[in-house]
Amino acid sequence: MTSPAATGDFRSASKAEAAFADERSAVIDLGAIRHNVRSIAAVASPAQVMAVVKADAYGHGAVPVARAALSAGASWLGVAHISEALALRAAGIEAPLLAWLHTSDSNFAAAVAAGIDIGCSGWELQRIVAAAREQERPARVHLKVDTGLGRNGATLDTWDSLVGEAMEYQDQGLLRVVGIFSHLAVADEPERPETDDQLAAFRVALAIAQDAGVDPEVRHLANTPATLSRPDTHFDLVRVGLGVYGLSPFEGQSSGELGLRPAMTVRTVVSQCKDVPAGQGVSYGLNYRTPGTSTLGLIPLGYADGVPRIATGGPVRVEGVNYPVVGRIAMDQMVIDLGPLNVSAGGRSVLGSEAVLFGNGADGGPTAEDWARAAGTNNYEIVTRISPRVPRRYINEVPGMGEPGTEEPRRGGEPAR
Ligand SMILES: *Cc1c(COP(=O)(O)O)cnc(C)c1O
Repeated sequence: MTSPAATGDFRSASKAEAAFADERSAVIDLGAIRHNVRSIAAVASPAQVMAVVKADAYGHGAVPVARAALSAGASWLGVAHISEALALRAAGIEAPLLAWLHTSDSNFAAAVAAGIDIGCSGWELQRIVAAAREQERPARVHLKVDTGLGRNGATLDTWDSLVGEAMEYQDQGLLRVVGIFSHLAVADEPERPETDDQLAAFRVALAIAQDAGVDPEVRHLANTPATLSRPDTHFDLVRVGLGVYGLSPFEGQSSGELGLRPAMTVRTVVSQCKDVPAGQGVSYGLNYRTPGTSTLGLIPLGYADGVPRIATGGPVRVEGVNYPVVGRIAMDQMVIDLGPLNVSAGGRSVLGSEAVLFGNGADGGPTAEDWARAAGTNNYEIVTRISPRVPRRYINEVPGMGEPGTEEPRRGGEPAR
């Protein structure tokens, strides 16, 4: 792959930084983010799109991703915590923004002051109203009903009274019920029946709210898998996280098959390449020994960078070949067995060659799904856990030529890809 350094695409890195920062990076393709949002918006239409940018946009960087998503047609942003929402507001992002996971220590007053929409499952209502009084500004509230996931959201038993109470406060001018929402449990397994049950329960909850006089701007239920597989769950707004990042929520269906482009590439360079004899033990525990004379490549990424320690066998692509990691993954590094390159006898060393853990999967390159398989987890976790020690580098920040949203051909810009 072309190194981002070669295309001069670095964002906010000084020249001195840029010369060195490329040794390890998570390269985030904002053109891919925009493409994914546009294709999701087309599927969701006429429903609007909320780009879910919690957890630092699943590790991709909340602020740049939020901006890219908004520019490509998302009209809402979603996060878990009020603190995450406040960080977006502090960066100057003014789009409608919902936060849905709170504790008694959450800063509801700051949320009201910043015009952040607040998800409410029950107990939060008193806090929200107190914050509205304090700020002398009505809170914007989305009432959440638990239709079967068993996490937050009011149970159907308490829904009636929550809605009633909220409407009393709305009548007093202390809040506005902007939305009604719920979250699905098994939409990534489209053959399972529970999504139908949740949808039916959501309709019951909507009817109860309507009877109580609620007239929400947005009713929302769908996550990425439901957006892609269940148009009957779209309502007024879909909350899409994984798909924005170009990843597939479905086992056995790739990003490409869904028309999505993975936006994150985690890459580094081989930091040592050396010949070893047969039987050479590798990494703590010596759980791997070279079957014959061989050459080992050292990859300077480890579990402190978010590579799961359990994921021995995960692929690293060097010079067009995917090599499985051998031996234990350590805090800072891991090893691939390149086979006998005979570097000492004049064979070609891969010292300094680019090493890709995962990317967009083009040309048989490794993917986040490959690492998910190796770690016994899902692609959500693989991208989200890439740690802050790995610098994020942004490419294609400005729409390329031919991309919708481009006003006129730019001169001296990067070529369209
Ligand atoms: C994380 C989250 C989403 C996004 O889910 P994806 O499967 O990534 O699209 C939507 N809604 C809620 C409430 C969430 O917590």
